[in-house]
Formats: sequence, C-alpha cells, structure tokens
Amino acid sequence: MRDFEAELAERKRAGLHRVRRQISGPQQPVLTSDGREILSFCSNDYLGLANHPANLDALRQALPSTGLGGAASHLICGHHDAHHQLEQRLAEFTGRSAALFFSTGYMANMGIIAALAGRGDTIFSDRLNHASIIDGCILSRARVHRYPHGDMAALESMLKKTSGHKLVVTDGVFSMDGDVAPLRELARLCREHDALLVVDDAHGIGVLGPQGRGSVAELGLSEQEVPVLIGTLGKAVGTSGAFAAGPEVLMEYLVQKARTYIYTTAMPPAIALATCASLDVIERDDARREHLGSLITRFRQEAGALGYRLMPSETPIQPIMVGDNWKALALSKALEERGLLVTAIRPPTVPEGEARLRVTLSAAHTHGDLDRLLDGLSACRSLLERTEEGL
Ligand SMILES: *Cc1c(COP(=O)(O)O)cnc(C)c1O
Repeated sequence: MRDFEAELAERKRAGLHRVRRQISGPQQPVLTSDGREILSFCSNDYLGLANHPANLDALRQALPSTGLGGAASHLICGHHDAHHQLEQRLAEFTGRSAALFFSTGYMANMGIIAALAGRGDTIFSDRLNHASIIDGCILSRARVHRYPHGDMAALESMLKKTSGHKLVVTDGVFSMDGDVAPLRELARLCREHDALLVVDDAHGIGVLGPQGRGSVAELGLSEQEVPVLIGTLGKAVGTSGAFAAGPEVLMEYLVQKARTYIYTTAMPPAIALATCASLDVIERDDARREHLGSLITRFRQEAGALGYRLMPSETPIQPIMVGDNWKALALSKALEERGLLVTAIRPPTVPEGEARLRVTLSAAHTHGDLDRLLDGLSACRSLLERTEEGL
C-alpha cells in the first residue's frame, strides 16, 4: 500500500503542511480563535456582508415559508420559487438574459467547462486560473492549452493554429495575484477566432464595476462579447453558492448538460432569498466600495514604502511577495504573535518559489485596523531582510 504517512512527513519537511484554524463566532475582521481575538486580513468577505443584519434578517424571514433543506435536485423537485427569483435577480444584476444558480463556484466551474467542451475540442486556460477551472478542464476531456498569464500574443498564436470548437477560460480577477484579466483583448481574440469566452469573476462581483456588477461590467462588455459569466456568492456577496449568466440558450444547455448542476441537491432556498437581499445592499451601497478603495490605496502606499514587494493589483487582494515557503510562514507567524492573521500561501496554490502573504482588505476594516496591520508589517520587516536581498 502507498505510504501516506511518509508523504505527509515529506510535506512537513518541505514547509507545505497545512493546518485548519478553528474560529468561533461570525465572519468579521475580528475573529475569535483559541479563545483569543485576532484581526484578520485573509477573508474574501470583501464588503463585510457575511454577517450583515439585512442579510441575516432576510434569511430569518424566508425560513418559515421555505423551510430549511433543498431536499432534491433542481430537475426532480428541488427547484423552488426562491431559486427562480434569485436567478432573475442575478440576470438583471449582471445585465444578462438569464442566469443559473449553482451550489458552489467549484461545482459551477467543473460543470460548466465540462458541459461546454468535450473530447476533440480545445480549451485555452490562463496559467494562473483557479483550481476549479483546472479541474473542470481535466473533467471535460478536451485538449487543454495553458497560456502564460495574461499573454495575449501567446494565446493568439495558439488560437491561430487550432481548428474545431474552442473555449477560452479565465479568472476575471486572479485570486492569488489580484490583477484583472485583459478582458477586452480576450473578447476580441475570441470573436476573431470563433472561440467561446468564459469568465469566472469570483473576486470581481460586488467589488468592481458600476454598483459592484463586476470586472466584465466595468469594461462594459456585452453578453455577445462574454457569453458565459460566472460569479460566486460566498465571497463579496457574503452568502453561499455561485451562478452562470448569459444567453437563454446557453443557460438552457447547462440545465441539460452540466452534471454538477443536475446531480446535486438544490441549495436551501432561504439562502437564495438572503442572496437577493445582499445584492440589494451591493447595488445601493457605493460607500462600502469607496471605503474599501481608500483602504487599498493606503495599504499600497504605506506597505510599499516599508519596502515590501507588492503585486500590480488594484483590487482588495494585495499579496506581499516573499518567495521562500519558510520565510512566508515565518512572516505570517510573526504577525500572528501581534494578533494579526494573514495566511501564507504556498505551492501548489501559487507557483514554486512564489510563496506570499495574501493580504485581503474588506470594507468592514477600519483605518484603525489598517494602522495595526501596517505597524505589524513595519515591525516584522527585518524578517525578510536578513536573508533575502533586493526586496
Ligand atoms: C473561490 C473561487 C472559486 C470557488 O468558489 P466557491 O463558491 O468557493 O466554491 C471559483 N473560482 C475562483 C476564481 C475562486 O476564487
């Protein structure tokens, strides 16, 4: 039998062992962990909606009329009015003809990619795409070409050499780097080379674009230009689930073909209604995005001035590049000793030699919270200096 214990020991030696931190209480900047309070900069609750009173109220009010469990898949008897209402709301929110509600972003990507491409087809996928996209590509059995991150010239030459059905898939905002995909160029290349463009805007929805409608809306790209828009609801939207949005015919096709939609139990319908409430807050509350923007600007200026290596990101994802796994862990640990939670991200989540601290900012953080992070980073700066040059 395979020696699982030895494999685990090897991971530990390589600084790749991961542990789950147990927290109690709701998701918010100040978490309780091991009976101690810690100020977190690593959640994806970018707008502070995971514990918003309006969303909690909507959930409570929904429960008597919807009950709790989803009980069956959508194609059996699980498709509830509440799911339908959310799909209409999502179509309107994203400016698309129709939308389809999935249980998680992971399932959405696996199901959608495998439904829209198959044996004999070709998928072009950005090298830094999310794990669920990579797995969706594998599941599809299509030929997969991973193009260098954001490299449109490389993608174009690959597209030119390929015939048959082509699908191009990209994160809208890259989850570990925080940069935005060159969506306009991607849309142009896809039009010129007759490829279907799929954009996963898990980190853009709620945060970017007018009223938080996402990275695709920020550039004003239409349903023709980006036919398949995917978004998740557990990050900035603060609830749970995911969606695809696009032309009616594609959404209907997914209902028939996306196995992760067909063969899974519908989400609790009350979650769908709480999500509608959260979308109302997102549309209405520009002040949250403005405050978040001011935190991002300040973090970049002040962490940059401390000599930390930041990435070209204008989103709430603000990684501090470290490189070495152990050094990233040491920096994370030193911050934790100061009551600050910023997790170290290591391979295989990021490429070898690109370990980093993934700082994420939220509209729920105050400028005082940011002061604490910057003070901590200032105090820990020498940890990187000692062994690494050129930072
Ligand atoms: C988080 C994430 C997902 C997965 O979404 P879940 O709803 O958490 O399963 C998919 N794509 C990207 C780009 C993500 O960052």
